[in-house]
Amino acid sequence: MILKRLEKDVVLGDGGMIFELERRGYVRAGPYTPEVVIEHPQVVRQLHIDFARAGADVIQACAYYAHEEKLKDIGMEGALPEINRAATCLAREVADEYGILVAGNLCNTWVYDPGDPATHTETRRQFDEQIEYQGTGQTDFYIAETIEYLGEAKIALEAIQDAGLTSMITLGFKYQDKTLDGIRMEDAFKDLKDSGADIVGINCFRDPEMMMPLAARLRQAVEGYVATQPVAYHCSPERPYFQAQEIRGDPAFPLELDPFMLTRREMAAYALEAKELGIEYIGACCGAGPNHIRAMAEALGRTVPNSRYSPRLELHPIVGSEEHVRERDQRILAEQRGEELPGTKKR
Ligand SMILES: [Zn+2]
Repeated sequence: MILKRLEKDVVLGDGGMIFELERRGYVRAGPYTPEVVIEHPQVVRQLHIDFARAGADVIQACAYYAHEEKLKDIGMEGALPEINRAATCLAREVADEYGILVAGNLCNTWVYDPGDPATHTETRRQFDEQIEYQGTGQTDFYIAETIEYLGEAKIALEAIQDAGLTSMITLGFKYQDKTLDGIRMEDAFKDLKDSGADIVGINCFRDPEMMMPLAARLRQAVEGYVATQPVAYHCSPERPYFQAQEIRGDPAFPLELDPFMLTRREMAAYALEAKELGIEYIGACCGAGPNHIRAMAEALGRTVPNSRYSPRLELHPIVGSEEHVRERDQRILAEQRGEELPGTKKR
């Protein structure tokens, strides 16, 4: 289904569920686990709806870090089946209502060690477990995301393939344009494509400006569908990924990223740039909310359910027109000076 959609047009992804839910108060910063799907399902359902109404063609099941390793950290490994099941069921309900797709989710396990084959088996076991509980019928395809080792990405790909499902594998790059197991970016993606990945791409860590140069190289390196899902937090050449940002000399990640947030117009510009580069799956990651996704959809020429509420600034009393702004500024200044402008009355 996802491949059919990609054949026809660019597919618009959603934003970062976990960071948006943390901002709303339902995910704990630190572990970043998604137990909210069983504790406050209505909150997750609403955010899926928000992304759907903003124009997302795909919603990602809120199962990031719903693997055994992370759930152990919060003492909830026993709830692994329930959390994974709930994540895909919630996404499915909303997706069916809006005629869009559900992506199951696998992510970096923190278990994988390239030099230790036992961890490869364990990584595979945890991925298999997640796929079993997220289900094959509930999802339209699987995204394995934020993976920094080619080896771990290939284990995720195999797990998805062995379940007979469509795969999108996205790698994350912080400082280097190599995977953590030392493979040049282009070679890693070629390997994934040759191994049968349906869509490959880059996600998380970098903002659009830091990600697009890598995306252009990826586009050149492989045939077939390519995805980008950047964060909506400004980075820089010196600090190309968002966790490296500083505020007043301290790390801004994770609690003081607010001033780094990209505006909706910046994310809209990214969507257009990605389309021009030939990226077919254009989404976003940490920090991106429904406002960003709607602006991206509209930049791509789409009218979406919540375009009903898109800006009409001409109706705003201050920003409505330049003339209006000038007049108002003059009036406020005059009032402050205790003067009276012709045609205005002092209150
Ligand atoms: Zn992210």
